[in-house]
Amino acid sequence: MQRNLTVAEAQDCILAAVLPLPPETVAVAEADGRVLAESVLSTRLLPPADCSAMDGYAVHSAAVREASASAPSVLPVAFEVAAGGVADCPLKQTEAARIFTGAPVPPGADAVIMQEHVEVAGEVIRITAPVASGSHIRRAGEDLQIGDRVLSAGSEVRPATIGLLASLGRSVISVIRRPRVAILSSGDELVEPDGDIDGGRIVASNSYTLKALCREVGAEPIYLGISRDRPEDLEAHIRAGLSADCIVTSAGVSVGDHDHVKDVLAKLGCEISFWGVQMKPGHPMVFGRFPAGGPFMFGLPGNPVSAAVTFEQFVRPALRRLLGFKNCFRPTLRARLRTPLQKRPGRLTFVRVELERIDGEIWASSTGNQSSGVFRSMIEAQGLLVFPGPESELAEGDSVTVQIVDPGFFWGSERGFEGN
Ligand code: AMP
Ligand code: MG
Repeated sequence: MQRNLTVAEAQDCILAAVLPLPPETVAVAEADGRVLAESVLSTRLLPPADCSAMDGYAVHSAAVREASASAPSVLPVAFEVAAGGVADCPLKQTEAARIFTGAPVPPGADAVIMQEHVEVAGEVIRITAPVASGSHIRRAGEDLQIGDRVLSAGSEVRPATIGLLASLGRSVISVIRRPRVAILSSGDELVEPDGDIDGGRIVASNSYTLKALCREVGAEPIYLGISRDRPEDLEAHIRAGLSADCIVTSAGVSVGDHDHVKDVLAKLGCEISFWGVQMKPGHPMVFGRFPAGGPFMFGLPGNPVSAAVTFEQFVRPALRRLLGFKNCFRPTLRARLRTPLQKRPGRLTFVRVELERIDGEIWASSTGNQSSGVFRSMIEAQGLLVFPGPESELAEGDSVTVQIVDPGFFWGSERGFEGN
């Protein structure tokens, strides 16, 4: 077991141990957000045939080469092709065919003239300008050719991916399985949200935050409840999570007399990779793995802010790796500091900050009291400002790195353009 790793060492240790889960087959319609476990080649030509991009008239471009306002080409309308129709009748040089958007172009025709550019006079049309060969025709296979590699294993299924798979006639697809994450709170003081909080009890809110964080990543949380600060109870609760892919506990990992997590893990044969990370909040954090391919174990600290921040630094990247994502870390950006910050040199510190965009620059301000017990600092935070370990002061205006924890920050009230 390693002790007191840096945050980067701890993340490297976790990501070296965690690999994507095996694939499973799911309905295409329900695959959004998952990572593809197969590459997809096109089995179809799209569009399947040359078809019209407009409502108008299909013609031979050569037949209207001389058309002008003073000497229009006059062509009889021989037949009509609608979307979904069949165009098996060849179009003669001297004829036009009525055609609609998406309808197959009849053999022989090589251009479509928009109906707005045509004068209709009974059974004939008058064309007053030449048209280039290929005008307003979508060529067969212009979107997809048979055998084109359209999707790569390892990419995320997005709404457009689902549309493409549907176009190829696929109803099921192979994606990486979702991790199942067993979540457990431990502490004699803890109650469920509907419990009695007299006598200094508090709600095991971490379980609820952690469950929601798991769902946000795309994992499936399983709630194991509250364990009391007794080794036997903790052992029974942890055993209940051994069939999951990960177990995430909060509290009981410090050095207090009632902190039994580490001992129970040792008893259950969990191989602990590290205990303690040089960070604030969140120092007492444990990572390990149960034997024989058992679950990964994340013992997070009990303070609600520490639990949420350690989830962000360690559990989220691990879950994304299990889900098959190549990029496992939250997006970061550079911002300027609004509120000066001080700390003792030593541990890397994650300062909860609000972000504001002013004249094209992003400014970060501390959300206030940064004590690890003050969860409100997390509620208001859009980002975690990285205050490097060796530094003791950051001045107003300094350029800082911020991990974005609220992607809602990027939503805007501005449309991004003016006029047309
Ligand atoms: P511990 O690690 O057991 O010393 O807990 C540290 C602090 O976190 C204590 O103030 C606990 O009451 C609090 N705490 C522990 N577990 C939870 C939880 N599940 N939800 C909210 N707060 C918790
Ligand atoms: Mg405790």
